[in-house]
Amino acid sequence: MGRLSDQHPFSGRNGSAARDRLASVLYAQQGGKCRMCSRPIPPSLRGKTGKRAAVVDHLRPWRLRPDLAFELTNLGLVCAGCHFTHCASIEAAHAGDAELIAQAKERIGQEW
Ligand SMILES: [Zn+2]
Repeated sequence: MGRLSDQHPFSGRNGSAARDRLASVLYAQQGGKCRMCSRPIPPSLRGKTGKRAAVVDHLRPWRLRPDLAFELTNLGLVCAGCHFTHCASIEAAHAGDAELIAQAKERIGQEW
């Protein structure tokens, strides 16, 4: 059982640089669209912090899988609306189970 991490992996100077880099890759991979709702994400909002910004979401939450915090395959770029609507409720519904959380998030992306 690993120690749960407290500090967000994208916090601090190094973390935010990593987030920006990953957001750019995800943005290109996803064709500039939200992974969940497929709506276009304005380039200026990709991976930035703030209310309207797109969020680099961890499919498997970083608290549960800190080892995957910077793994591209564990990340998705989602709009702020989807992050607010889906991610928190999924993580609450499957609290503590990183695989169930990832599966539930991946299903949302495939419904569209
Ligand atoms: Zn969305």
